[in-house]
Amino acid sequence: LSTNQALLNTQARRESNARSYPRRLPLAISEASGVYVKDMEGRAYIDCLAGAGTLALGHNHPVVIQAIQQVLEEGRPLHTLDITTPVKEAFVDELFASLPESFAKRAKIQFCGPTGGDAIEAAIKLVKTATGNRSVLSFQGGYHGATHGSMSISGNLAPKIKVQSLMPDVHFLPYPYRYRCPFGLGGEACQQVSSQYIEHVLDDPESGILPPAGMIFEVVQGEGGTIPAPVEWLKEMRRITKERGIPLIIDEVQTGIGRTGKMFAFEHAGIIPDVLVLSKAIGGSLPLSVVIYDQALDVWDPGAHIGTFRGNQMAMAAGAATLNYIKKTQLVPQVEGLGKQLVDQLKALQADIPVLGDVRGRGLMVGVEIVDSTQLPDAIGSYPAHPELARKIQKECFHRGLILEVGGRHGSVIRFLPPLTITEKQLTEVVNIFKEAVWATYQ
Ligand code: PMP
Repeated sequence: LSTNQALLNTQARRESNARSYPRRLPLAISEASGVYVKDMEGRAYIDCLAGAGTLALGHNHPVVIQAIQQVLEEGRPLHTLDITTPVKEAFVDELFASLPESFAKRAKIQFCGPTGGDAIEAAIKLVKTATGNRSVLSFQGGYHGATHGSMSISGNLAPKIKVQSLMPDVHFLPYPYRYRCPFGLGGEACQQVSSQYIEHVLDDPESGILPPAGMIFEVVQGEGGTIPAPVEWLKEMRRITKERGIPLIIDEVQTGIGRTGKMFAFEHAGIIPDVLVLSKAIGGSLPLSVVIYDQALDVWDPGAHIGTFRGNQMAMAAGAATLNYIKKTQLVPQVEGLGKQLVDQLKALQADIPVLGDVRGRGLMVGVEIVDSTQLPDAIGSYPAHPELARKIQKECFHRGLILEVGGRHGSVIRFLPPLTITEKQLTEVVNIFKEAVWATYQ
């Protein structure tokens, strides 16, 4: 039987130098069930990465497996381009029934290539076509993918610098990141000044912003460091874009389908986007992505947005089963409670562990800012980021059987993204392992 190391060695020899997760999580996964994965040597880990948020119901949930089996047993086609099928029809029914009614009533859906980045590309093309404008308003620290277009509108400069010639005319606006407020302001002042500033630059002809094709953001920045945008700020962005006729694209690739304690994160603010981008959990663990948009934006000519893999029937069946299960078991309100438990338990550690600079999240999308508490805090009481310590904590957690991701603009935010089906007891275990790992790492 092969060991973890044997598989990692072959992987290192054959796969691209771009591989990332295996460097920080050096295992080969041999089996998986629920919140657990097992490596080649039979060690179990609690998986709080969950396919980067894809596995809403955990690994191999029976309803997902059954939905996939049904497609196979009934002799359904596995792939149909964008030709319709009963499986597709059932998926769209479930999805539209999960949207706020006022959005569903006016919604059109476009199936995209299987990844989040594919759907982002589609969303950008759509609003450019609809408005005839070419500039895009995006946000500092946002993440939308690794294709040319999606990378262009993502905040992180490091990968862009190496590629160049990306989409021009992308304007990065300040996201209301309270712990590291771009304006050096604490609390609500941060979000207030952010929205005032945005309104100002949009109206000032001297700010050099060409008429925008659209504004795009995540309701909770994921890769950027698990940063929830305050509800008031979200409402302001909706007002500002509506008043100026700018289509609002909300990227819910990571936050969608119950993750934040609402079916869609924009519901926290009671707003409706013009374009909604979904992927990850929407395919119930299998690759699928869609854009859903207001019918007023349905301006594409036939064939204006195409692509071969838009017809993965197993993904649609798995996605429909996931949505159905989430609704039937009322999982979304449970996620809210579980998220609160996780945040409370992590916050309780802060008094004894000063390197836990900020604990924040919405639902089961929670982040802990690892800081250098030996330094002086800045004017709003925030300490410098400590990415090395964050990595050490991640490694220590891994050795203790807990898989966590590290992200954020400075690489210093430990990110908790467990399956939505995690239990209170398992969450407590997650916090206990995390606590022990932090104690063992931080002296
Ligand atoms: N948008 C958001 C908010 C994401 O979190 C991600 C993936 N982490 C993407 C887009 C890109 O999705 P993909 O990796 O499937 O292209």
